[in-house]
Parts: sequence; C-alpha cells; structure tokens
Amino acid sequence: APAVEVRGLHVSLDRTPILTGVDLTVAAGEWVTVIGPNGAGKSTLLRAVGGLLPAPGAISLFGTPSAALRRRDRARVVATVAQSPVVPPGMSVLDYVLLGRTPYIPPLGRESAADVTAVHDVLDRLDLTGFHRRELATLSGGERQRVFLARALAQGATLLLLDEPTSALDIGHQQEVLELVDQLRREHGLTVLATMHDLSLAGEYADRMVLLADGRVVAVGTPHEVLTEHLLATHYRASVRVVPG
Ligand code: ADP
Ligand code: MG
Ligand code: MG
Repeated sequence: APAVEVRGLHVSLDRTPILTGVDLTVAAGEWVTVIGPNGAGKSTLLRAVGGLLPAPGAISLFGTPSAALRRRDRARVVATVAQSPVVPPGMSVLDYVLLGRTPYIPPLGRESAADVTAVHDVLDRLDLTGFHRRELATLSGGERQRVFLARALAQGATLLLLDEPTSALDIGHQQEVLELVDQLRREHGLTVLATMHDLSLAGEYADRMVLLADGRVVAVGTPHEVLTEHLLATHYRASVRVVPG
C-alpha cells in the first residue's frame, strides 16, 4: 500500500472551504514536495495527513484509514514538523526531543532510560552530540531545524511531514537540512511529504512534485514538469494544465 493515499479531501476552516477535493498518493520511500502560492492550502493538507485535522474517509496511511489509527499507532506511522514549531522558553534540547517520545511514555510515569538513550542516539545521528543541555531558544536556525527533525525521528515514525523545513534558513543551511533529510530517508527507508515555498532547491530533492492552488491540485509530475507549470502560471498567468502523475 502507498504511504499516503488521499482521495477527495475536503477541508473547511471556520466554514470557509480551504481544500476542495484533493487527491494525492505518496509511495513508500518516496519524497513528494507540495508547492504553491501562499494560502494555497499546503499547511492545511499536511495537517490533515498528519491527523491534526479531521478528514473522515479521505486519508489512508500505509493502507490503514487514518481515522482508525489510535494515538500510539499514529505516532509510529507519521511525524510532523510544523512550519514554525513553538520553541518553549527555557526548554533544553533533551527535553524538547523527549517530547517526541511522549506517545510511548505512560501517562503518569516518567521517561525511561531507554527513552533518554533513544534521544541521545537521534542527536548523534543529526550531528547534535553535546547539544542536549543547551536551551533550544539559544540555537541557530539551522541547529534548531535539526532539533525539530530529531524530535520527529525520536518518535520513530516512518512518514515525515515537513512544512517548509527551510523557510527560516539561509541558502547554505537550506541545502544542509535537505541533504540531511535525504540521507535519513535513504538510511531509514523513510517517506517524505514536504511543502516548500522557496523553489530554488525544491526540485533537487523531490521524486515528484504537486502544485496546489486555491485548495486544488493543479499539476502533478516530475519536479521539472511541475516547476515549469508553476513558472508559466506565475509569470504568464496562463491557465495550468494537469500533468498526469
Ligand atoms: P499555505 O500553507 O499554502 O500558505 P494554509 O494551509 O496555511 O496555506 O492556508 C490556506 C488558507 O486557509 C488560507 O487562506 C488561510 O488564511 C486559511 N486558514 C488557515 N487556517 C485557518 C483557520 N484556522 N481558520 C480559517 N482559515 C484558515
Ligand atoms: Mg503560508
Ligand atoms: Mg503553509
């Protein structure tokens, strides 16, 4: 079964239709990047796929209807890095990444030594050895983005949803973070569904791209095909044609 299967997804927020019939398939191990203008519904789509918005009947993850997944099962399947994650004041990197383990920690218990070990493993993997005592708020943008990824990885999910993972970074750090995600994908067989606003690097890391506009998918295809459609649509205001995916 595909990692993500979205069929006829409609989402309204405050009675305003935001997504109006979105179809999307992401194969296991694939990296799909959603692009589109501000307000197109990219974040809303990711939130729905991540189970953060109700989408009854429209979404399956690895063959299981998303609505049927219980909290812990969902945590093993899908992890989301939000567009601008909240950085709790005073919180250490260790405690922040431990939040990724909370689905496994019993409600009244405390984290186990195994959870702390899992966090250290993930910090090592992301080149953040020795950062565990640092206050998250004092880290640079690139370091912070790696900590956000660490939290998602500590969760142990196979599907990563990344909402504009590079938007707060300069170009050098953008490349570094995307390279790291790609490496993690290859080493751990992860599936990646990302949104990107800056298109300069977006095409280099995606297997396929989706162009979203006004809550609808208007093009699906290789990055080259979709970036060309996007260019035509934005520069010439041509009507976009659907490229078969
Ligand atoms: P994108 O990520 O592509 O910029 P979003 O998914 O964030 O787009 O937003 C899509 C549209 O939904 C925007 O017009 C936004 O203003 C609207 N929207 C987002 N969240 C809410 C909300 N909680 N209530 C009402 N409208 C919302
Ligand atoms: Mg936006
Ligand atoms: Mg967004």
